[in-house]
Amino acid sequence: MGNDCVFCQISAGLHPADVVYESDTVLAFRDIHPQAPIHVLIIPRRHIARIADLEPGDAAVMGNVMVAARLVAEQLGVEDAYRLVVNSGRNAGQSVFHIHVHLLAGRRFAWPPG
Ligand code: 5GP
Ligand code: ZN
Repeated sequence: MGNDCVFCQISAGLHPADVVYESDTVLAFRDIHPQAPIHVLIIPRRHIARIADLEPGDAAVMGNVMVAARLVAEQLGVEDAYRLVVNSGRNAGQSVFHIHVHLLAGRRFAWPPG
């Protein structure tokens, strides 16, 4: 567990979160500052700081994260239209350094994102 990592604390049940999906390797919970009517964060339970830190051995868990995103979208009834976003690095908008996929849905999204 990453010291002082809020997402590790959520995964361990030490910090409250509105959990919508969980498995042995993945957890999904609602973002506290939603940017869309539905805004869920999907994380690997194991602490990996950034996409930029991924190693070949992380492929399976990151695959599980993506499959979980699909399951969350179905569970929340937004499987027809949702956006997945991953920020890697502070200048890309990353503020929590434990990998997470944002699942956003329930409104229209511009492309390109800007
Ligand atoms: P990032 O900017 O790193 O891509 O996204 C981090 C996200 O985590 C933000 O959307 C922020 O609102 C969310 N967040 C930060 N701290 C917490 C927390 O303690 N609980 C929950 N549920 N979301 C958090
Ligand atoms: Zn962590």
